[in-house]
Amino acid sequence: MASRSLSRLALVAAGTLLASLLGSSATAQPADTPVFWRVPATAAQAAALTNAGFDVEEGDAGSVYVVGGKAVAARLQGLGYRPSFYDTVYKELPAQANSLAADTFYGGYRTVTAHEAHLTSVAAAHPDLATKYTIGQSWKKQQGQGGHDIQAICLTKKQTGDCTLSTTSKKPKFFLMAQIHARELSTGELAWRWIDYLADGYATDATAKSILDTTEVWVVPISNPDGVDIVASGGNSPKLQRKNANNTRGGCSGTNIGIDLNRNSTFKWGGDSNSPCAETYQGASAGSEPEVKALETLARSIFPDQRGTGNNDPAPTSAKGTMITLHSYGNDIIIPWGFTQATSPNDAQYRKLGAKYAASNGYLVGTNEETVGYDTSGTTDDFTYGELGVASVTFEVGGSSGTCGGFLPRYTCVDSTFWPKNKGALITAAKAAAAPYQQ
Ligand SMILES: [Zn+2]
Repeated sequence: MASRSLSRLALVAAGTLLASLLGSSATAQPADTPVFWRVPATAAQAAALTNAGFDVEEGDAGSVYVVGGKAVAARLQGLGYRPSFYDTVYKELPAQANSLAADTFYGGYRTVTAHEAHLTSVAAAHPDLATKYTIGQSWKKQQGQGGHDIQAICLTKKQTGDCTLSTTSKKPKFFLMAQIHARELSTGELAWRWIDYLADGYATDATAKSILDTTEVWVVPISNPDGVDIVASGGNSPKLQRKNANNTRGGCSGTNIGIDLNRNSTFKWGGDSNSPCAETYQGASAGSEPEVKALETLARSIFPDQRGTGNNDPAPTSAKGTMITLHSYGNDIIIPWGFTQATSPNDAQYRKLGAKYAASNGYLVGTNEETVGYDTSGTTDDFTYGELGVASVTFEVGGSSGTCGGFLPRYTCVDSTFWPKNKGALITAAKAAAAPYQQ
């Protein structure tokens, strides 16, 4: 559109009139609400769409789901694809959505600030159980543009040497991390409930007491705080930011900016997208992002290196430590490897451990190929397993459609569905930390 006509329009009216006049021809209209489009596509076509900056998700057989508004569907049609409506992205808000606390959004999801206050209050209320750590900074904080510290909490019934960022402290460790993909909203909430279950439950719940008497539980509830800020800035229409807020690469705009922090880890980095605006952009180099550095530094600070350097070197059966990274969606428990279709040298043990997790949440246990259907390099769980030998898996929380499906499930789904299903799996992970490969 010519700038001359734009300025003439701007003289006529601002706001809704301008928006309605521009409506059908512009490509990034706020009013063009994103939905999931089902798009028949081969794996090669899916990769091409990803690299072209489309927001491509795992689909059903022979298809992918592409997130976007009508303008995105029109672009897909222009490229010869046949998008059809699959499901909404935004779900119905709970009835009380307008009377929520200021530090929540989209029906109750907590902001980064709320998570930070939560960790502070848990540590203050339970000094015998909880220790809060700053493990690094977000990209924006590092740039002096606001941003956040990356925060962790360690929970255990403290004895001398416990929760001291030591690889040699006595208790085995379970590390839970969430919301490294900012828009995967349910995951940070699950981390919140897990922290409360342990800290508040210690006095009354025999299982919580048993876990904290024997285990260090480390939790990073918000692994990508800058990204979550962007998501929350949409309020009741959360923005679909997945990556971090690093906007220095590629001239990307909107929620296409950033580096995918779950493709930027240093173990086997380099097999994912080199297109800066792609949702799976891996960054310019391994571990380039401060959030990834923080997570890897934490992992190296609490887990000893228990595995050899070869792809086929198993973690020994005596290895300790469990790790779960929470993502959504798919109802999957994804076991290593991510970077290759080959199974890991601990495959049989992972399938046993995965089956125990699945006894609680009912998710499908398998490798990338067996679950989501695509390879991933530079993921956090490939790092903690490959580099350190920690028994590490990804949970993909929730299904692909319906009120409790997709990236933005209705907030009430957290307590009605996700937490009841996954509480037992997290308990299993904590109990397995002492001998995860001897299940
Ligand atoms: Zn994810």
